[in-house]
Amino acid sequence: MTYIFGNWKMYLTLEESLSLAQSLADMSVPDGVQACVFPSMIAMHSVQESLAGSGCGVGVQHVAWTPRGAYTGEISAFIAKEAGSAYALVGHSERRHIFGETNDDVRKKLEACMESGLAAVLCIGETHEDKAQDKRTYRLKKQLMKALHGLSQDAPLLIAYEPVWAISGSGGGEACLPADVQDIHGWIRTEVAQYTDKDIPILYGGSVNQGNAASYIACDDVSGLLVGSASTHADSFAKIVAST
Ligand code: PEP
Repeated sequence: MTYIFGNWKMYLTLEESLSLAQSLADMSVPDGVQACVFPSMIAMHSVQESLAGSGCGVGVQHVAWTPRGAYTGEISAFIAKEAGSAYALVGHSERRHIFGETNDDVRKKLEACMESGLAAVLCIGETHEDKAQDKRTYRLKKQLMKALHGLSQDAPLLIAYEPVWAISGSGGGEACLPADVQDIHGWIRTEVAQYTDKDIPILYGGSVNQGNAASYIACDDVSGLLVGSASTHADSFAKIVAST
């Protein structure tokens, strides 16, 4: 299975999200490809209704770690799943670096997804400083260990490797070369094998567009892509899905 996931972040209004969903409803999704978009919380349910019966699923960009209660402003994995989400992003670099989510928060959110039966996409990635200081694998090792050691996997788990320096908008937007992506995905695969005997899909994300998507997909250890800004245009997202 190849996963092509689109993170709409906070780029779109409700109206724009619904219009994009309507365009994607007819998108052709090749066999063996799982497409999914991650709209804002405001739009998620309506987008899910609009895409029902299409080849494209819907997920949420983050979740709270507790199922329900007095938690103003939060939406839990349990509620997101009940409202039609198939996946949740957990620990996206913008949550970690802009909103201060720690490895402990990420772990609690992953556990909440597993308990709710919501498939989780654990996002990991090093910063430019980590890379400059030769701490790339140190950072990734720590993120993986805190997230996965002893985690009971009651729902599907995927990993998205997104170097912060390669993400457009919030990061550096610097292209990560496919050979570099392959090397690090191979390393992640070996690292993850310490924590689980399941075959965990590893997606790549960071300035993916219709021009470079195929070069990442061609890498042996890349199981799919997490696409940010290029996923907010029906044409480019459909081309990325078709390039698999
Ligand atoms: C992301 O933030 O998940 C992402 C991959 O963004 P972009 O494709 O815009 O770099």
